[in-house]
Amino acid sequence: MNHITRDFHALAADESLLDQALEGADVAPLLMVLVHLTGEEHWLDEVAPHINGPWNFQETVPEKLKRRLRARMKEVLLDYAARGTPLPTEPPPGLLPRMLAAGVGGPVPDEYIPMILEEMMLDDIDPKTVHWRTRPDDETLAAFRVVIIGAGVSGLGMAIKLREAGIPFVIYEKNKTVGGTWLENSYPGCGVDTPNHFYSLSFEPNHDWPDHFSKRDELWKYMERLADQYDLRRDIRFETEVTASVYDEARAVWRVTVRDASGVEETSEANAVITAVGQLNRPSIPPIPGLDEFAGAKFHTARWDHSVDLAGKNVAMIGTGASGMQTGPSIAPVVKHLTIFQRSAHWAVYNQNYHKSVGPGKTAALKLIPFYAKWYRFQLLWASSDGLHASLHVDPDWKTPDQSLNETNQKFRDQLIAYIRDQVNGDEALIKKVVPPYPPYGKRMLRDNYWYKMLTRDNVDLVTDPIERITADGVTTKGGKFWPADVLVLATGFQAQRMLTPMHVEGRGGQTIRALWGDDNPRAYLGITVPAFPNLFLIYGPGTNLAHGGSAIYHSECQTRYIMQCLRELLETGARAMEVKQDPHDRFNEYLDATHAKMVWAHGGVGNWYKNKHGRVVTNSPFRLVDYRAMTEKLDRNDYEMM
Ligand code: NAP
Repeated sequence: MNHITRDFHALAADESLLDQALEGADVAPLLMVLVHLTGEEHWLDEVAPHINGPWNFQETVPEKLKRRLRARMKEVLLDYAARGTPLPTEPPPGLLPRMLAAGVGGPVPDEYIPMILEEMMLDDIDPKTVHWRTRPDDETLAAFRVVIIGAGVSGLGMAIKLREAGIPFVIYEKNKTVGGTWLENSYPGCGVDTPNHFYSLSFEPNHDWPDHFSKRDELWKYMERLADQYDLRRDIRFETEVTASVYDEARAVWRVTVRDASGVEETSEANAVITAVGQLNRPSIPPIPGLDEFAGAKFHTARWDHSVDLAGKNVAMIGTGASGMQTGPSIAPVVKHLTIFQRSAHWAVYNQNYHKSVGPGKTAALKLIPFYAKWYRFQLLWASSDGLHASLHVDPDWKTPDQSLNETNQKFRDQLIAYIRDQVNGDEALIKKVVPPYPPYGKRMLRDNYWYKMLTRDNVDLVTDPIERITADGVTTKGGKFWPADVLVLATGFQAQRMLTPMHVEGRGGQTIRALWGDDNPRAYLGITVPAFPNLFLIYGPGTNLAHGGSAIYHSECQTRYIMQCLRELLETGARAMEVKQDPHDRFNEYLDATHAKMVWAHGGVGNWYKNKHGRVVTNSPFRLVDYRAMTEKLDRNDYEMM
């Protein structure tokens, strides 16, 4: 009995719990479950016209129809339980395309079906698992050692797959425990901007998220759970930072040097090194004159000092990106005065679920109604998928190219401005400050965390005059105005482009990553492999950050599958090393650059953490999720030199 069947029997045995779950369930995924279990197509005819999009607030299904749907669902579930027949894991043949379209209120092209089924895992078996074709003998496996750098969600996900395959590994993690970015970022209000029930490993969904967009503690707890559930800690060396990885060509091994908390260094060998350090790991401290002279408490958002009580203090915050957006409104009600220094305005979009909790009914539905969580995940995947991608391309004939890319982008811009206007009660001076001149999505699209409302508070000032210098007790702007501050918060982002910093990574022929990439020009094949760096694999590498949709976890699973195929190739063929050829690497990067050139992140009127000083977008993927999945689904051996 799999867990779907087991939990479902618990539900059927408790009718009041069943009622609560049915009542709390969203109507579209419930419709999917009903059609999945019964094949009763007429429900699609009746309900689908009232579903206008993938979010639960986009349905207008009449109450009476909802009641009928729930009643039929209850009947079907109780009947299944009474008969004891197994639940069908497959939806009725031929109905899937109609069901998908009905569930999200619009067409779902066939090319997405494999990706959707993979993400839903209707039969609870992860199709992304890479299986041995000919399992190497135990001795061969035991002699192979993989080093993973970083125990954030990507490193943990990789470790789980290595463990399943029986490939030995060690994770080196600089922090005291797992969690990566969700451990390090603990600033007030820190949370996820991707809908939570999609922001988790596909093979390890969590039905206990308290919110639709949960806060940092919940995300961190999820990763702690992964580490415990898969007993990963025994293979993690905590408080151990990798300082260098040097490839020994003669022996085809990486010599990995680590430093522990007491400063002791140690070098060991690995057949393969997988970096899972994230792009947003090393804080960026701005070179503002006088920063060191500030006498009060001063910290970066990713290094929040919880010993500092902000109550009654004058707080200055520099930066208005995703971290600032969450910090500002969370501390404004507590502090005496909050002065926010904005270098450039960011766009922010409102989502009705952003501050909403899930509630016990929906949680029960997620846990207990068979397949409900899977159909819900499909909806959220779709809501966060490639829907926007086409609208982020430049229309070369567009008449106002500075402020928008095309007609759809301009419409979105107008909607965002109308929303801002409403939030700040028509305050024209404020509107002028917060409406960005560049197109929506030029920088990362933020989720409004009551930011605009916060700006209307009496104890908050938004300063757009550039900072001249910082002194012991405050900040002076170019116009000569002094802003007193007891505490300085740097919401100034990360050294995203200086990837793998500060590690020394040295490949074949003494070539270093730093010399190859410089400070800000990383490139890799599929974001994963680099010529001259055999058996080095990157997760969340160059050109893989997602800014149109999806989630970093989704991409990391694509990369994990690809890397597992590489390791399988090495272990099954007995090759000691594999190195991506220059040609596919270069062609891929040319394609990536050419695609970016027509898209919003390369827009000349915007500064963002995606573009390097030459204007090349180095962090982001310009590809649709469905395309990146296809690119990474199957390893092409011809792309590699096997050694
Ligand atoms: P960020 O988006 O890079 O924002 C940094 C902010 O600091 C910007 O407003 C930037 O201004 C400003 N800044 C930097 N240097 C400055 C200087 N010398 N003087 C004045 N202002 C300066 O960093 P972030 O907010 O930490 O977010 C980074 C990324 O992390 C996000 O894009 C997102 O991918 C991820 N993140 C996600 C979440 C979430 O899911 N909720 C939360 C936090 C972070 P300019 O805009 O003018 O450069």
